Amino acid sequence: MDTTDIFPKGQQLPSEWFTGNAFLTQLIAKDKNHEFSVGCVTFEPKARTVWHTHPKGQVLIVIDGEGFYQEKGKPVQPIAKGEVINIPENIEHWHGATDTKKLVHIAITNYKDDVQVTWLQPVSDDEYSEVNAK
Ligand code: MN
Repeated sequence: MDTTDIFPKGQQLPSEWFTGNAFLTQLIAKDKNHEFSVGCVTFEPKARTVWHTHPKGQVLIVIDGEGFYQEKGKPVQPIAKGEVINIPENIEHWHGATDTKKLVHIAITNYKDDVQVTWLQPVSDDEYSEVNAK
């Protein structure tokens, strides 16, 4: 653990849903009071989620590094430490690191019943190269 890290890197996330090396430390699980979970996600350079949706939205709070957030059909949004992204419900999107910098964000993810995410297709290498070229 880097001495400047706030939370431990945690457990590696599955390659079905994350391209490259991504890690999760769960901070708060859904419980009788909270209809959401809170986790700290670390993306190593080149790592990103697959395209996905959240039935009740998600908030990302970037605490380190640089990366991208992109909604389907819209221009990519570069994101960096200190930025907050409010993701609407049922919007197809992905988030992840740049090809040279890591990205660390807190993810606050709401549940609709017992579902908080629907995973879709990977962000292709072509799609990912295109956003990094800008
Ligand atoms: Mn998301």
